[in-house]
Amino acid sequence: MVIVRVEHVWKDYMLGNQTVHALQDVSLVVAPGRFLAIAGPSGSGKTTLLNLIGCIDTPTKGDIFIGEENVGRKSPDDLADLRARTLGFVFQTFNLLPVLTAAENVEFPLLQRKDISRRERLARTRHYLDVVGLADKMTHRPNELSGGQRQRVAIARALAGGPAIILADEPTANLDSRTGESILGLMKEINESERTTFIFSTHDFRIMEMADRVVSVADGRLSS
Ligand code: ADP
Ligand code: MG
Repeated sequence: MVIVRVEHVWKDYMLGNQTVHALQDVSLVVAPGRFLAIAGPSGSGKTTLLNLIGCIDTPTKGDIFIGEENVGRKSPDDLADLRARTLGFVFQTFNLLPVLTAAENVEFPLLQRKDISRRERLARTRHYLDVVGLADKMTHRPNELSGGQRQRVAIARALAGGPAIILADEPTANLDSRTGESILGLMKEINESERTTFIFSTHDFRIMEMADRVVSVADGRLSS
């Protein structure tokens, strides 16, 4: 079984009149339930690869499959739907909305989902804030939470949509190493209990060691 398949993907960016080859002939197959680290130094192409898998950006050449679906063949509406139902995102800078409480931040993306009732939304919000250990911080705003707590809210937000895959771009880069390890530990627990596939990027060796599989990128090329 395969949940993500990246086939001979290239990504070029134009920078002035120069072409930057951010990814060069990258292929990757990910089995469901993996806890996969993409390791590589700054500028190697980690964010570019995660954005392509997350259907936030499109390859210059090559194909990306999520489950059986070739995402390059889908309409913008279908892609938005796939993203909302199948993918969850966790970012380096947390990306919480500052005027919303922790609970409202978790609930917010669910408002787009016509298939989820208000009652279900509130139940999921409560449940996933509890899963990340923040049941008592529902009404706190991001500036009333620590970095680690903010990232826990972001993880609850990513989980609430019930995604098969969570993509996390350097989720621990803005945290001290102990907090970073506990965030990775939480992700690993969720990976095991909910069978959610995690793909995360990092350049921290201690964090990499917690993965069950590591692939490396250097200058836009992938090696296992
Ligand atoms: P990483 O996440 O590993 O630090 P990125 O995927 O962000 O690496 O970047 C890979 C390469 O692509 C770098 O050389 C970066 O400068 C370049 N790059 C990324 N995004 C853009 C962009 N929007 N325009 C031009 N170049 C970009
Ligand atoms: Mg990056």
